[in-house]
Amino acid sequence: MLSHDLNREMHVESQTNRCEDRIPAVSKLSLIDLQKYLPARVKYTLKPFYRRIFPNRLVAILNPTWRCNYRCSYCPIVTNFAYTSVVPKSDERSGEDWIQALENLPPAAIYIAGGEPFVYADLPFLINNLPERHSLIGIVSNFSSPASVYRKIHKRIHLNASFHREHTNSDEFLAKIKELAPHFHIQVNIVATPENLPLLGQISDELARSEVALHVDPYVDVHFQYSTDQLKALQPYLAHDRNPETQLNFDDFSQKRCSAGRNYVSFSPDGSAYTCYAGMNFIHSTLYSEIAKGKDLSQYRMRNIFDPGFKMNATDSVCSMPCNLACDRDSAIIRPESLTRR
Ligand code: SF4
Ligand code: SF4
Repeated sequence: MLSHDLNREMHVESQTNRCEDRIPAVSKLSLIDLQKYLPARVKYTLKPFYRRIFPNRLVAILNPTWRCNYRCSYCPIVTNFAYTSVVPKSDERSGEDWIQALENLPPAAIYIAGGEPFVYADLPFLINNLPERHSLIGIVSNFSSPASVYRKIHKRIHLNASFHREHTNSDEFLAKIKELAPHFHIQVNIVATPENLPLLGQISDELARSEVALHVDPYVDVHFQYSTDQLKALQPYLAHDRNPETQLNFDDFSQKRCSAGRNYVSFSPDGSAYTCYAGMNFIHSTLYSEIAKGKDLSQYRMRNIFDPGFKMNATDSVCSMPCNLACDRDSAIIRPESLTRR
């Protein structure tokens, strides 16, 4: 499952309206303590606001595998570009390895993505034994594994069930949700591809009848733009934290001051670390070759978490590339460089 499954809108903020400037030091401390005890459901509800509430808390996206049992036609991780050509199964690290490496990472809010995380056999072991200093925001999954696989996780965590109509239908998908709902907090996510757009109302109603929340993500693809009519059809289903017009702007090469790499990181299945999903795409994905051509991309590559000297960056960086993926926009603090120089 990929970044567009996780998406939220970037908050390009002026220095004066940042929450960290408004929350006094004492309450910031209590909030950090408090969030350790929040149930997964509440923690996930806070996800869109997480960066505002916890400005310096590390957010890590851990992708234990790039493999997936689906081949969605719109997928930039599995189908349109295969990240298994960068990190194949043979280079994936074990759950035990990840647990050890995570012991050395500063306390983080971790989100598990991929690929389909549940095709990674060690996932339940990894989640059940996640070091206490970290909290799990959730796991995104296409819900195709048998319920018994999900039930190997012995914590009431948040599962982001991603609905891919090319591979399943509403009845099958809803049946799995009902089976797992007593054990996990579940929210459904769907990507608003042109094929899904006309069905959003129907899907939303079906889920509402089962009391399941739907989150709709714009379809972000470098070769795609919505028509005016499509944008109009999409608008009623978008949460305030999504904005297709800015997310689909691939021409924004303005300078942005960004905390990715300092308080946000994305790990590939072999432990390679990137400041953000977009940075990883600029470096590896042929879908971004044109945008990335001739650019110095070294700032997006960090050391491998399994290297003894792995450290997060000490400072923010200046990025001049388009920032389109909402998981990055959710998790990094991104401000126009012109504002930070004032
Ligand atoms: S379920 Fe579909 S969109 Fe998600 S990772 Fe697999 S192929 Fe990609
Ligand atoms: S693409 Fe640039 S602005 Fe966006 S998260 Fe990555 S480093 Fe930050």
